[in-house]
Amino acid sequence: MQSERVVVIGSGPAGAMAARELVRGGLPVTMLESGTASPRGLLVRAGGRNVFRRGVEAETHDDDYVATGNPSTDWCYHLAPGGLTNQWTGAVPRFAPQDFHEGERLDERYVWPVTYDELAPFYDDAESLLQITGGAQDVPGLPGGRVDHTRRVPADWQNVRRAAAARGQGFAPMPYADGPRWLIARRGTAFNSFTRIVRPLAASGRFELRTGAHAVSIEWSGAQRRVVGVLYHDRARDHIERIPATAVVVACGALNSTKLLFGSACPDFPDGLGNTEGLLGQYLHDHPREWWTFETETPLSRLAPASYLTRRPYDESAPLLASSWTVGNASAHDKVLSFTPLKAGAFGVQVFGTMIPTPKGYVRPSPVRQDEFGAPQLEICIDFDGETITNMVEAREHFLSLMEEAGHRCRLNPVVPQLTPGRAVHYGGTARMHRRRDHGVLDEWNRPFDIPNLVVSDSSCFTTNTEKNPTLTLMALSARAARRLAHDLKDT
Ligand SMILES: Cc1cc2nc3c(=O)[nH]c(=O)nc-3n(C[C@H](O)[C@H](O)[C@H](O)COP(=O)(O)OP(=O)(O)OC[C@H]3O[C@@H](n4cnc5c(N)ncnc54)[C@H](O)[C@@H]3O)c2cc1C
Repeated sequence: MQSERVVVIGSGPAGAMAARELVRGGLPVTMLESGTASPRGLLVRAGGRNVFRRGVEAETHDDDYVATGNPSTDWCYHLAPGGLTNQWTGAVPRFAPQDFHEGERLDERYVWPVTYDELAPFYDDAESLLQITGGAQDVPGLPGGRVDHTRRVPADWQNVRRAAAARGQGFAPMPYADGPRWLIARRGTAFNSFTRIVRPLAASGRFELRTGAHAVSIEWSGAQRRVVGVLYHDRARDHIERIPATAVVVACGALNSTKLLFGSACPDFPDGLGNTEGLLGQYLHDHPREWWTFETETPLSRLAPASYLTRRPYDESAPLLASSWTVGNASAHDKVLSFTPLKAGAFGVQVFGTMIPTPKGYVRPSPVRQDEFGAPQLEICIDFDGETITNMVEAREHFLSLMEEAGHRCRLNPVVPQLTPGRAVHYGGTARMHRRRDHGVLDEWNRPFDIPNLVVSDSSCFTTNTEKNPTLTLMALSARAARRLAHDLKDT
């Protein structure tokens, strides 16, 4: 029956995982996706390497938001089936067990209401879809996951691995969602949540997809104390439609989900749906991201896939301050040469740092500007503070001293300043999970405290900002929340 359908909003990795879990749980699902056609690209993989890749550029939306913190703040999203997995790189490290509770050293606010062990089966499941190439072993700060194609750090980098281990860090191939060893696909990335997860759901007979369906508000029934439907703009008919729902999963990407909750304000929730404590939009965080190159005195093997130097030990780091280093090619030219046995004298490093989320970073509806559907645009207020920036500078020094300790003297090339919020495309935290309602918007099952049939399942739910790429973790959290929702709906 139409009224018994769960409505999932968004077909990125968060929405895809939720829809898959609900369908597997026997529930009928309708997915609303704002985008219309899947972007095209071309990917050719041979022998486990990408030999040709033509993707679609990620979109930044300079006119779609108001930046009131750092004026250069970016916001990149893609209203298309598959969301940002049309562009992503596919690095999928797991969070480590400590990542979920290390923030307690600073404050109770920074403790996740979910543990690594609770999430582990959902990591396994997501990894089985991602078809990962990487290292399969546990290393400090990075649990080994389910890997389809195992890689090792080259022999002449083993000293770096040993030097890292002596400092309590891991140095291992980065896990990438690189797909099968041989592939020709008309898309820009090996893993795309739409083609890999959403499209196959159609075969179940319980799944319906509506594209060009941009959700504008979620309908709350004060009498039933539940959400009961979604209003969406049907792009083809240029018309507002209503779809009834027995439950709703919001998975629009962190900031678009938060925007939708603000846009669903009603008399019972005048400050945004589920926003009982005024925390919606607050605790915004992103990864400070920096890319630089260094030169080695003696050439070393090229790293393909890139290798990952994990964070410094928790007990040697200030709470919630960490960095990760992904070491790969220094240039496009080096990428081509990585198909040969020739060694390299220069390498590129991408560093993700962390920032401590606080209410000073936030999004909220702008009182002055509207989007194409007449809803308030988002005001985005975020900047990186002194300790966040110092942490990034120290990350350069730490890496070079570790290389020297491993017997490879290196020279850092000039670093172009790039610490602009939004550049990492890893926003999170604006509908944070917490065990206590005075510290969070969502409970441990990704639901607003007073709304039993609404799930918010993307990285807006993140309680803290770890130094690891977020997508694998948001996929696992989304599947976990959806499984619980399916269980609860069947019980009612
Ligand atoms: C160049 C690039 C490289 C990246 N590399 C990595 C990486 O290596 N590792 C990693 O972990 N992450 C990476 N990311 C980030 C990663 O892509 C995101 O973390 C991930 O896609 C987020 O998934 P999501 O489902 O929450 O949101 P999205 O992927 O943004 O999907 C949101 C979906 O919701 C839809 N939508 C939005 N609003 C509405 C609405 N109102 N109504 C209906 N539908 C709506 C959108 O069309 C979209 O389909 C990268 C991103 C970019 C741009």
